[in-house]
Amino acid sequence: MKRFKLFLLISSMAFFVYGQNPEWFYATTDAPSAHSLKTNYPDQIQILDTFIEVSAVYMSRDASMQLKNNGNLHGPGYIFKSNEEAARTAIYNVQEAHLGVLDFTIDQDDFVNQLLTQVDTQNIGDVILDMEAYGTRFNTKPAGIQASHDLKDRWQGMATDVGRTDVTVEAFNHSFTDQISVILTIPGSTYPDEIVIIGGHLDSGDFWLQDNAPGADDNGSGIATLTEVLRILLANDFHPLRTVQFMAYAAEEIGLYGSADIAENYADNNKNVLAVMQLDMTNYNGSAFDIAIISDGAHTSGTLNLFLVDLLEHYNSGGEHPITYDFSYCGYACSDHASWAANGYMASFPFESGFGEHNPYIHSPNDTYAKMGNTAEHSTKFVKLGLEFIVETAKTAQMGTNDIHRPQLMVVVKDRSLIYDLGAVQADGNSVVVFDPSGKKLVERQQLKSSGNLSLQGLPNGLYIAVFKDKNGKAYSKKFLLK
Ligand SMILES: [Zn+2]
Repeated sequence: MKRFKLFLLISSMAFFVYGQNPEWFYATTDAPSAHSLKTNYPDQIQILDTFIEVSAVYMSRDASMQLKNNGNLHGPGYIFKSNEEAARTAIYNVQEAHLGVLDFTIDQDDFVNQLLTQVDTQNIGDVILDMEAYGTRFNTKPAGIQASHDLKDRWQGMATDVGRTDVTVEAFNHSFTDQISVILTIPGSTYPDEIVIIGGHLDSGDFWLQDNAPGADDNGSGIATLTEVLRILLANDFHPLRTVQFMAYAAEEIGLYGSADIAENYADNNKNVLAVMQLDMTNYNGSAFDIAIISDGAHTSGTLNLFLVDLLEHYNSGGEHPITYDFSYCGYACSDHASWAANGYMASFPFESGFGEHNPYIHSPNDTYAKMGNTAEHSTKFVKLGLEFIVETAKTAQMGTNDIHRPQLMVVVKDRSLIYDLGAVQADGNSVVVFDPSGKKLVERQQLKSSGNLSLQGLPNGLYIAVFKDKNGKAYSKKFLLK
């Protein structure tokens, strides 16, 4: 396989150059990578435990750098953990999913269509150039730290300019880096505790490239996309029913540090995050289609991915805002969505191209706006999808939407049966489909009673998603673990 050839080639070079780094730390990574490292560099990694496809490891900085090119699109390939306990428990976290029930409905057409016409390509390009101009946004570099504070000021200024005193912008400080993560909050008027997140990392570079890391596409483009989504929502006096948070993460490139820290904090505080969209590289048009929906195992949510497909079909299958899409994949921890998924939250990652067709200049001094043709045209597609995602998940207060319909959906797994109670969901015409995390349909049942059980005999142990639908097609999903 291409993945392993590349892996071995790069590993042998890397140890020669970087063999002096003494740092060791805890992390999670995918089990095949952990075992491959163990085979090739037995002295550089300890595998503490493995559950399903994820391993808790203690490894050297040298070992971690090998994962970087182990089949990943561009991410670090591991998630940093602050101690052994955190690493060991993280691999079992899927059992304690913090999943709320999201009503996957599309009913904000008037408002969304009004927003879609306002996307400004030049604005996106200007922000990409501003990000590129730091030279580097590596998390330990003064320019990288400055960039994080400047972004906070930029977003705060945008809210202040339109007189939104209810919108807050905060620094999320991390103990391991002086670079801050930035969190902008638009509070929900009716369900403030229900949170929808759209985010991307603000840092650039990696351990190999710290000084000349313009990071225009990776991830200046994601930050520019977020900023344009925010600009349009503010310009249209967006007041959501649910709380919306924009996040710019610190230090993604060295192990998803920023997002892992935030997602862990949210899970510890039982925050009810309903859906997370990750934007990391949006401006390189490398495939025959526009958007690749990353659908890799347990790291993105099959249910949320299908909702993105719904949105794209509904708003972008033709007309004035056509967007084409396909599915693709990336390696373990290839971006910040993995931090949310690892804490049991539903996350999706729409990406600029299919696997292997992405911007070839990332993590090099050539990741510039010029190399993308001095246009932000491709990113406009992601601004549109981002607007659709936020408005349809958080819903607008000003369009007079009724209260969000919320059934009490209860799901328990016992003796290889899925016991369910759909609460207030109408009894006639309900259905359920059980998927594995790759989206494969395993069990399907029509004409479901409002409570009962579903045999899971014959399914192997692992993580699954049950999607219940009422007779109107409204979907409610739950993750569960079979063991
Ligand atoms: Zn990135």
